[in-house]
Amino acid sequence: MYDLAIIGGGIVGLSTAMAIGQRFPKARIVVIEKESNWAYHQTGNNSGVIHSGIYYKPGSFKAKFCRDGSRSMVEFCQQHDIAYEVCGKVIVATEKEQLPILENLYTRGLENNLKVTKLPCEQVKEIEPHVSCIAGLKVFTTGIVDYKQVCQKYADIVQSLGGELRLNTKVEKIRSLGENQVLETNQGVFETRFVINCAGLYSDRVALLARVDPQAKIVPFRGEYYELTPEKRYLVNTLIYPVPNPDFPFLGVHFTKMIDGSVHAGPNAVLSFKREGYKKTDFDLRDFTEVMTYPGFWKLAAKHADEGIQEIVRSFSKAAFLHSLQKLIPEVRAEDIVPTHAGVRAQALRNDGALVDDFLIVQGKNSIHVCNAPSPAATSSLEIGKAIAQAIPEQQHLQVKARV
Ligand SMILES: Cc1cc2nc3c(=O)[nH]c(=O)nc-3n(C[C@H](O)[C@H](O)[C@H](O)COP(=O)(O)OP(=O)(O)OC[C@H]3O[C@@H](n4cnc5c(N)ncnc54)[C@H](O)[C@@H]3O)c2cc1C
Repeated sequence: MYDLAIIGGGIVGLSTAMAIGQRFPKARIVVIEKESNWAYHQTGNNSGVIHSGIYYKPGSFKAKFCRDGSRSMVEFCQQHDIAYEVCGKVIVATEKEQLPILENLYTRGLENNLKVTKLPCEQVKEIEPHVSCIAGLKVFTTGIVDYKQVCQKYADIVQSLGGELRLNTKVEKIRSLGENQVLETNQGVFETRFVINCAGLYSDRVALLARVDPQAKIVPFRGEYYELTPEKRYLVNTLIYPVPNPDFPFLGVHFTKMIDGSVHAGPNAVLSFKREGYKKTDFDLRDFTEVMTYPGFWKLAAKHADEGIQEIVRSFSKAAFLHSLQKLIPEVRAEDIVPTHAGVRAQALRNDGALVDDFLIVQGKNSIHVCNAPSPAATSSLEIGKAIAQAIPEQQHLQVKARV
């Protein structure tokens, strides 16, 4: 019998478990993860960037949690001796038409209280000598880290607070038993007073298992990366981003210096035919059929047909991917990049074809469901976890309230 069960051992589930353990030291907590290790999906396959929060609408959860989260992530790394670097990043305009969007980003950065400076091309080149651009922005607080290491530390802390950690345990059904809920898994049943769903790519399905309709469906978008060969790493000093398409939640392929010294290029954003489909050929009939029969998908596809086709071309053609990279660094050649890992983003989509822009946290009776936690949720994880832990005492049916 548990007070709280957290489904999902990615960065959001583990940070939530940690925040709950700190807030309710006497609560019996269990984290249930279906894979053999933490951070196996989105968290372990991301770009490793501590985002500053420049892109997000002022007042949104993303803007607030990212700005505060980037600070708390750096403090957490300092406190626990996890390698990180606040190296800053540049966003560069390569075409005249992008200048108004770059200007808007600058204004947004200021509105979000970030340290950001406009740079003429010559000054961008002082930071990134190989870049081609007509103007740029420097964002000072962007950093890099290995989120797998961060997750391992979160898990250690959860355990040290008395939380139970269960790997290789998949939640298959959720049923009510009086005021409690019973999670049926491949490793037996777990009875709990409260459920927190942090199941990432399966968060909508887990919500439905708990009879909560998130009013959105997860659509998986694969992000594929190339890596610069070691001899060409000198082409990138920090992080180099293009001006993003403001209608799209993805940032465009960019160069990222990783904390291990390698340089990754990507990710693109291509519809995946399987929720955890890391290869181009991965296919799952249920996942595919669900997307293809969802009215929201076709409305989205009609609106963004051109971008969708370009992404597919860029996924299958190294030349097309290279072409996007050469807009930022013209001297990159095909032989300088080799394919590396891919990640799959869990992006929630509404029935009307609108991509859910902000983090989406849905409350049920005796449950909370994190139904949209795409980028920058890794950066924001400590703040998301704290916010969920704060929301728990408001639940009328939670017994741990009385035990605190
Ligand atoms: C390509 C890519 C690049 C990104 N880059 C960045 C970046 O640089 N910076 C940043 O801040 N963010 C980035 N993000 C976003 C960030 O990685 C995610 O927002 C974050 O990892 C979400 O964490 P999560 O815990 O919600 O999901 P996940 O990490 O996917 O964890 C969910 C977990 O739930 C488990 N699960 C699912 N169903 C069940 C079940 N039924 N029973 C038990 N367990 C279950 C899964 O196995 C999984 O481990 C990126 C994402 C991608 C895909």
